[in-house]
Amino acid sequence: MDIEYPSYYDQFHCIASSCKDSCCRGWCIDVDKDSRERYDRVPGSFGEKLRATLKEEKGNYFFPLEENGNCPFLKENGLCEMICELGEDALCEVCQSYPRMKRSYGNYAQYDLNASCEEAFRLILSWDGEILRGREDTDAEEILSSEKERELIHLIAFRSALWEEIPYFSKDFNAFFLELYKFFLEAELLIYPNASAGKCKAGKIERLNSENVYLDSFSFLNEERFLEAINWQKKIKEKSLDFSKWRELFLEEVTKKGKKTFEYEFKNESNTVEKSEGNKEDRMNQSRLEEYFLKLPKEKQIDWEKAMPALCRYFLFRYTLLPLEEASLLPLFSLVYQSIEWIYTAYLLILNQYSVKDGNCYTGLIEGKEIKKEDKYFSCFFSEEPSILRIAVFFSKEIEHDEENIRQLLSYNPLSNICKKGV
Ligand code: SF4
Repeated sequence: MDIEYPSYYDQFHCIASSCKDSCCRGWCIDVDKDSRERYDRVPGSFGEKLRATLKEEKGNYFFPLEENGNCPFLKENGLCEMICELGEDALCEVCQSYPRMKRSYGNYAQYDLNASCEEAFRLILSWDGEILRGREDTDAEEILSSEKERELIHLIAFRSALWEEIPYFSKDFNAFFLELYKFFLEAELLIYPNASAGKCKAGKIERLNSENVYLDSFSFLNEERFLEAINWQKKIKEKSLDFSKWRELFLEEVTKKGKKTFEYEFKNESNTVEKSEGNKEDRMNQSRLEEYFLKLPKEKQIDWEKAMPALCRYFLFRYTLLPLEEASLLPLFSLVYQSIEWIYTAYLLILNQYSVKDGNCYTGLIEGKEIKKEDKYFSCFFSEEPSILRIAVFFSKEIEHDEENIRQLLSYNPLSNICKKGV
């Protein structure tokens, strides 16, 4: 089997007690069959604790979280009691492998790290895009049809071509995604010429590519887009209160924009679209997030400009195989765009408006609003200054670990907006 993995994969080491956003908090651990059988044989008082803690539901075994959300084996010093008592080999499969993951397709496999681990994400942020390749012996290799093999080869070639180009993309958010989108459209015609993903057919893509003018005047960050983003966020299965607090920020941003209330606009989405299309200048002025970017201190702007290509590479590598399931490249574009858009908007809004130092904590205090003390902190920042790393790790934990949430990110197709212009 051919394997690929990012160069940071082998550099990863868990930072254990130094990790603030420990994976031993907030996640209930599923225990595999082999580990459960091993735990049955552990002697002494620790063996008794193991068996008393292990719970079963419909044939599945797991360690439930403590009331404070911690793993029952997380010690006060941040170390794992299981490792301290029995060594690393005693960990169940989930704990042993996290944050590593593997995906395979036919005779091809990818290894990667989950961005939900803060140490993994540190490596992802500084990744230069190098991908290492090798071979692995395996018993079961699915034989792909020649058509599937063609798609896979094209996808990997497409990704390699993008890798070459990304360093030359504009650093401006809108221009970056416009360039990326054009790449996707061209590749869609080559790899999936008959796909009808989104509301536009391939013929229209071809025309857009040749006329270009419509795409060049397209703004990703506009009011219409905000409404779509809120729409998908409404459907997200939330794991943390921070997510709803962030969504509130987003909502506030939308309601500030129009003369009408957000509720009105949301219920009359089609009216909003007409209004936006009818007055392009007005729509552009409403791209308040772009203004927020310019208000950031220079070093924060540079942080973002460096992070955007790194995030783009991470999502593209991690979801390389997604178009094979979707029979189109456009859902991958949607996922990459909407994920980075979420991280970007959270970064801008939080840094500009809510990064208020209150004693030792950076708060989510909303100016002029009375908020209960316990509600005003974004716990995902651990009292640090809000950063891209913390926001992206939080996004990954909240969204990437839930298949249903990921599905909410696959359906945004900017072409549908452009097509309304009559292309
Ligand atoms: S989140 Fe990552 S660095 Fe932190 S404890 Fe878990 S594996 Fe280690």
